[in-house]
Amino acid sequence: MVFRPPPWVPPLPEIPDSITVAEFISNDKYGRHPIKTSRRPFTCGMTGRSYTIEEVNERVNSLAKSLHAILKFDVEGGTEWDRVVAIYSLNTIDYIPATHAVHRLSGIVTPASLTHSAKELEHQLRSSGAKALFTCIPFLQNAIKACEAVGIPQEHIFILPVPGMAERVPFKSIEDLILEGRKLPPLLLSAWIEGQGARQVAYLCYSSGTSGHPKAVMVSHRNIIANTMQTTLFDSPGRRQSGVRTQVSVGVLPFSHIYGLTVICHVAMYRGDEIIVLPKYEFQSFLSSVQKFKVEQLHIVPPILISMISNPDNCKKYDLSSVRLVFSGAAPLGSETMAKVSQLYPSWKLGQGYGLTEASPSITSTSEHDIFPGSAGSIIPGTKVKILDTEGNEVTEHEMRGELLVQSDSVTLGYLNNEQENAQTYVWHHDGRWLRTGDEVLVRKSPQGHEHVFIVDRIKELIKVKGHQVAPAELEAHLLDHHLVSDCAVIGIEDERAGQLPKAYVVKSVEVRKQSLADQDVIKAINSHVEDHKARHKWLKGGIQFIDSIPKSPSGKILRRLLKEQDKKGRISA
Ligand code: AMP
Repeated sequence: MVFRPPPWVPPLPEIPDSITVAEFISNDKYGRHPIKTSRRPFTCGMTGRSYTIEEVNERVNSLAKSLHAILKFDVEGGTEWDRVVAIYSLNTIDYIPATHAVHRLSGIVTPASLTHSAKELEHQLRSSGAKALFTCIPFLQNAIKACEAVGIPQEHIFILPVPGMAERVPFKSIEDLILEGRKLPPLLLSAWIEGQGARQVAYLCYSSGTSGHPKAVMVSHRNIIANTMQTTLFDSPGRRQSGVRTQVSVGVLPFSHIYGLTVICHVAMYRGDEIIVLPKYEFQSFLSSVQKFKVEQLHIVPPILISMISNPDNCKKYDLSSVRLVFSGAAPLGSETMAKVSQLYPSWKLGQGYGLTEASPSITSTSEHDIFPGSAGSIIPGTKVKILDTEGNEVTEHEMRGELLVQSDSVTLGYLNNEQENAQTYVWHHDGRWLRTGDEVLVRKSPQGHEHVFIVDRIKELIKVKGHQVAPAELEAHLLDHHLVSDCAVIGIEDERAGQLPKAYVVKSVEVRKQSLADQDVIKAINSHVEDHKARHKWLKGGIQFIDSIPKSPSGKILRRLLKEQDKKGRISA
């Protein structure tokens, strides 16, 4: 049985496939909210500095010219794979203009998470083939190290200014590049041919998918355009009722993650909204910006809501009465948390969105007119969902659990250079190509009679800590490098604040006995090994437990479910 959007959702119009996402977003002719009645798309929440859409377009243009001059991309010959540029920066009002300038040159942007250590950034730069990098001063040292390791010259490192960081460094800033670009002649670029937007990659975003290490997901221009149209259209019945109104939303989640990139930046720009950009989440500055700029819509993750309900007195110091709608995504939002938020702010409409990097990202969303507590929302336009039970049979009724598979124009092209993972994740059935999400769901009808998707569990290995991905396979490979570890398995354990935390089960190596090491010393050594090389959210905050052997299937696969169940019951002992 194939599940579809509710009947009130209008059909998805044709998706343009011969333009870049930048052209789609900045132009009225593709259904964008008219430029003349749009708000300023990006305003810095710290300084109040902002750009009009015309200014954004001019900056993109000038930046593209100077990047073209410096990076010497062969725009007519070569391919987009010769024109990969990374961004490793806090959120700034120049983040999206920088990505769109690279797109103007038919290049690819690979946004890197700020949680990356220099080594992790190096991996992303190397595997994506990046030729240049935008960064910001607080992250410059890591950026220099990683660029040096992969051979990106220092002249190809550019700075995005962030508020309060005026330090002079011997690197060109985006402002320098734009000034240089203004003096250069116009770029003569050929128009894209039919279908180029569907084939050509816009963003290389990293995700571990259903198993294994983080991999580069190829997100095409058409994928982003499709998801932007789908999300906007889903929301339009509500918007029509109150006239076509634009609104103020907040860009506090990292733009390096697909949620920030598509749902916050691209959708808001297309709708003619204003995004109040904050470099990162910080309790006080977040709430004071919501108050100051009268933010109406919050796109956040569960840990932000949890920090709010844990500090109700501090929240009450701010006037948040402008907020109408709150969207939570990227991780499960517990019903207890929802109830407490509603108690604190009874007028807020609280919804969820669900998706994943591989679907760029949204699959379901809550309509403000059909809020069903606990649901991840209804299926968005142009999207089909089916649910497969453990035997691989299609679920034919409501309330039956199984893995969600999705078919949509936003389903990405696949993982870069990874045929094995592609074959497992992007599967062909008699009715076309489907993306396996690795999420266990069920469909339930709301009191209004509309189908809603409930996320009930995660089948895939992925652990999510405060909305950030942790790939168990990556941590296991790292732990196995340590001389005190002979075998190991990493699982996610539930945590009220972070959602999940990584926990390692470790089989001690013979070295431990030889050296007569105490358990505490082994734990300390293993923790240092992780903390010295891995991003903070990957640290083993869920603990390290010793075990005699790791439970495995006859083919050698770690039986994670068994470990998780036994961990819950506290039954494992060494
Ligand atoms: P990412 O690719 O980093 O966006 O991670 C996607 C994964 O996050 C999904 O496959 C889900 O496991 C989880 N996720 C995203 N949104 C939700 C949600 N609303 N509720 C529960 N889990 C979610």
